[in-house]
Amino acid sequence: MFKKVLIANRGEIALRIHRACKEMGIQTVVVHSTADANSMAVRMADESVCIGGPRSRDSYLNTHAILTAASITNADAIHPGYGFLSENAEFVRMVEEHGFTFIGPSADHIDRMGDKVMAKKTAVELGLPVVPGSDGALETYEEALKTANEMGYPVLIKAASGGGGKGMQVVREEKALKEAYTTARSEAKANFGDDTVYMEKFLLKPRHIEIQIFGDKHGNAIHLGERDCSIQRRHQKVVEEAPSPTLTEEERTFIGGLSADAIKKLGYVGAGTIEYLFEDGKFYFMEMNTRIQVEHPVTEMITGIDLIVEQIRVAAGEKLTLNKENIRLRGHAIEVRINAEDPETFAPSPGEIKQFHAAGGLGVRFDSAVYNGYKIPPYYDSMVGKLIVHGRDRDEAIARLRRAIQETIVDGVKTTLPLHLWIIDSPDFKTGDYNIHWLEKKLAEKAEEKKKAS
Ligand code: ADP
Repeated sequence: MFKKVLIANRGEIALRIHRACKEMGIQTVVVHSTADANSMAVRMADESVCIGGPRSRDSYLNTHAILTAASITNADAIHPGYGFLSENAEFVRMVEEHGFTFIGPSADHIDRMGDKVMAKKTAVELGLPVVPGSDGALETYEEALKTANEMGYPVLIKAASGGGGKGMQVVREEKALKEAYTTARSEAKANFGDDTVYMEKFLLKPRHIEIQIFGDKHGNAIHLGERDCSIQRRHQKVVEEAPSPTLTEEERTFIGGLSADAIKKLGYVGAGTIEYLFEDGKFYFMEMNTRIQVEHPVTEMITGIDLIVEQIRVAAGEKLTLNKENIRLRGHAIEVRINAEDPETFAPSPGEIKQFHAAGGLGVRFDSAVYNGYKIPPYYDSMVGKLIVHGRDRDEAIARLRRAIQETIVDGVKTTLPLHLWIIDSPDFKTGDYNIHWLEKKLAEKAEEKKKAS
């Protein structure tokens, strides 16, 4: 086992990784930017190294500085968290060339899944159902037009290198296609440095269902059930729950088994998530994320398994001790992402947290790195924490979540807590009757009502 792990991330996930390491008796080094010198991860870690200025490219994406920090502190392995360098194959190669272990999959698997066109091709080869769409990348507008006409509108143009819900264009009719195609390509180039785009049928009422998978270096592969992440805004997840309120036991076993078989065939090592759209009883592969995800705690809550500990064990070459027989899905878990944003306009609200109190009690977990007097820097994403609850069933989880949201105090900045209360109190959420378009539709209705009233 590793003696010392370097954490190449910030915020709640840096602290989360630190906690897993401590329980395993592993020393931690956290790297940080000058803007994060007072972070909770820096305070908690055994060692910390300042690697550059506030801008991500000067610090959290500064591969040379991170490797230097690993060298001078004598770290054995590097955990990338999510975002930043977690899915950067080039970085993984550098880490390995310098004699450290990357806590994550191989560079080749990251490469293969990072390009969405290649990922979809791989999924087909592995026997996974995919969203109907273009056969690979669209080279010309004429090809886009032909594909769209064959499939029928609406269609979705996606960037091959896209991520975080960015780089997608919905096209509802032929006359809007040309502009959307041109915009998609130039935005893809500007955002991801690659103007490759492809097309998919735009599904009208799908749910987002993803399967947590794990592989080890000994050829074992398992799945840990699904997460339903259909409550989204601008293709970004807002609320996540496990299990999904709609899947039957049969559907769960089917898609879980299919996903585990696929990664076994692939020889995939580490944690990963296979994302599907689910509509009318059918699953469609969207993409695979080759890292730990923000919403991993809901899976931990219903399985009782620490996924970060498993990542570290697998990276160190240990065999997975988890198997079909000993993984049990118990009860229901829901996570809400608390962002420092105006809950109505979604404008970022950085600043100082004057008063902070985390909810507690049975079945309540608060993953956050903020504290009284913490200043949220304006340079990074706006998530200040994740509130996760577990209950014996979904109703109990919802009641507990409402209670925990009301107990949480984050004063000094605006947060999305009121939005979450509004979501979980809606009749559709209670019955589990929602899809990926639900939240935006409800927000639009609410804005309309407000306009009428004034
Ligand atoms: P990213 O890597 O940017 O997160 P994804 O491919 O995972 O991109 O898609 C993000 C979200 O966009 C999905 O969760 C879903 O809400 C929506 N989406 C993606 N593909 C489709 C599609 N074919 N039809 C409808 N919605 C889609």
